[in-house]
Amino acid sequence: MRALQVTAPGTLELREVPLPAPGPGELLVRVSAAGICHSDLHVLHADWQRPEPMTLGHEIAGTVAAVGTDTEAGSAAPGTAPVGTAGVVYLCWSCGTCRECTAGRQNLCLAAGRFAMPPCPGLMGHDGGMAEYVVVPTAAFVPTDIEPAQAAPLADAALTSYHAIDGAREHLRPGGTAVVIGVGGLGHIAVQILRAVSPVRVIAVDVARDKLDAAARLGAEVVLTADDAAAEKILRLTGGRGADAVFDFVGVDATAQLSVRAVAPGGAYRMVGLGGGVPGIAADGAIGDAWPWGASIKKSYAGTRNDLVDSLALAAAGTIHAEVETFPLAEGPAVFERLERGGILGRAVLIP
Ligand code: NAD
Ligand code: ZN
Ligand code: ZN
Repeated sequence: MRALQVTAPGTLELREVPLPAPGPGELLVRVSAAGICHSDLHVLHADWQRPEPMTLGHEIAGTVAAVGTDTEAGSAAPGTAPVGTAGVVYLCWSCGTCRECTAGRQNLCLAAGRFAMPPCPGLMGHDGGMAEYVVVPTAAFVPTDIEPAQAAPLADAALTSYHAIDGAREHLRPGGTAVVIGVGGLGHIAVQILRAVSPVRVIAVDVARDKLDAAARLGAEVVLTADDAAAEKILRLTGGRGADAVFDFVGVDATAQLSVRAVAPGGAYRMVGLGGGVPGIAADGAIGDAWPWGASIKKSYAGTRNDLVDSLALAAAGTIHAEVETFPLAEGPAVFERLERGGILGRAVLIP
């Protein structure tokens, strides 16, 4: 089968690889669509450890093509989706038994260590979905009838946005304001989720005019260019108080510092973007005068399996959608370059 693989730092190749076989507790999924996330660029450029070669792709929609047999029973494990079932793949392939997993927080699974992400296809040690087929754990397959190119981005772009917003709900009250920084693949869905599940006004911030225009179309009441004046403008728009919640989908120094300057006392700063930025609370890392009383900061990773189910429900009801542009798998390397140049509006989705 064909697969889009990282073969060396910065090198992405469409290769012919053997068809994988599902083992006990696994499914073989025929991939219908795979979204390209900005994290794929971090993986491609080896910002974190991974095996090589590795097939990218953690936003996967597809159909069950084969069910691995339980070696002892000689049959499929119970709870398995039958061949032909369409669905998306939940990306946290967590252990299922640790303290966090049993509490339903699979995204914080402890099995891989305190600072590791749980195993994830196309990111951490497993081949992902930018291929004709992928093998996934049975428990990771979530059935849905949503059209595959639409469904794939829900598996991360919607899931991760939903998780960050749902966890900040106590801050999102009538008359309040939320700021979304970076209205790309994740952010353009975050704007819609905020409009759907909370009564707050949404301010979108980005460096690109076309992304801001899309955010306005999708429900942001105010759009601001990410420049030195953005924090002042947010303070002015909130009567000097600041934003009740700031969702940072970029996570570089500039956006982290903008977030700290724009958040209200008692407000929430949620850092989702993996740009490696430092909030700059104070030069020495202490909580200095720059950080308002009662404000909280949270590093937000992916979401729980229930967050995926909720995200799928919002999309099935037509309340949120991903703005997608589709490409054949073979165009993957060129599309990655386009994403890197900021040339994708919404989400790019590969069709194998
Ligand atoms: P994307 O490339 O689709 O969108 C990024 C957006 O940020 C673009 O609209 C871009 O114009 C804008 N932007 C870039 N620099 C900016 C700046 N300085 N100020 C304001 N806006 C700026 O990326 P994406 O797929 O939405 O991913 C966003 C980030 O979230 C990436 O770092 C990605 O790795 C990370 N991510 C994190 C998680 C998690 O669980 N924490 C999950 C998925 C993605
Ligand atoms: Zn991602
Ligand atoms: Zn676990």
